Amino acid sequence: MIDTLEVKKQQSSYRTTILLYHQIGETLHNSVNPDCFCRKEKFCQQMEYLKSSSIEVVSLDRAITALFSEGQPQRNQVVLTFDDGCGSFYDVAHPILEKCGFPATIYPVVGSLGQVANWGGKVYPHLKILDQKKLIALSNNGVEIGGHTVNHVKLDQVPKTDAVQEIKNCKVELEQILNKEVTTFAFPHGKYNSTIIEMVKRAGFKNALTCESNYANNASSVFEIPRRYITNYDDLRSFEKKLL
Ligand SMILES: [Zn+2]
Repeated sequence: MIDTLEVKKQQSSYRTTILLYHQIGETLHNSVNPDCFCRKEKFCQQMEYLKSSSIEVVSLDRAITALFSEGQPQRNQVVLTFDDGCGSFYDVAHPILEKCGFPATIYPVVGSLGQVANWGGKVYPHLKILDQKKLIALSNNGVEIGGHTVNHVKLDQVPKTDAVQEIKNCKVELEQILNKEVTTFAFPHGKYNSTIIEMVKRAGFKNALTCESNYANNASSVFEIPRRYITNYDDLRSFEKKLL
């Protein structure tokens, strides 16, 4: 039997791109990886570019519904995601997004809320993670909050029991803080396999994002949705290239 959704998927010429950012800031400190940073001026330019283009900036939910339930979007779409819950999202990125009227999804590391990043055996003194109060304020302001584990572990490299706890507990803790359901998950370091996907499903998440560099249209499932990584090395030209 012909899968009508599959046919629609093949026919669509429109792209959905999920952008992956980390820290948006004024100053790139030595201890911060330029791959996980985007200077404020660059971010502003990128958002202005999106604002003046025919590309629609949509929420993750909207994009997923278009891709997986309706067949395909009717125009080019972009989703903005921010991993780790960097404190500068509140002060720097969010005001710019608000001005543009763009929705966003952030994936904070729950175990580091209100502290500097401390994972993988390393402390990042210039990478402050959002505190609970700011996280609640963002959530109440329409920013979607997703799970990204408790301790930012490489899920395919820790014992299975630890991986299950990391996935389940980040959802439970975020839901307690936010008093709303948390449905989306992003794999820390982009590390996952079929067993990890099953754990994410069993924990009750409805979708999961990877770090595979691809268009969301090419997702093999709703639990393996690729993203395009934006770094401090990107200029407007490379940004444009990553979109379409
Ligand atoms: Zn991360």
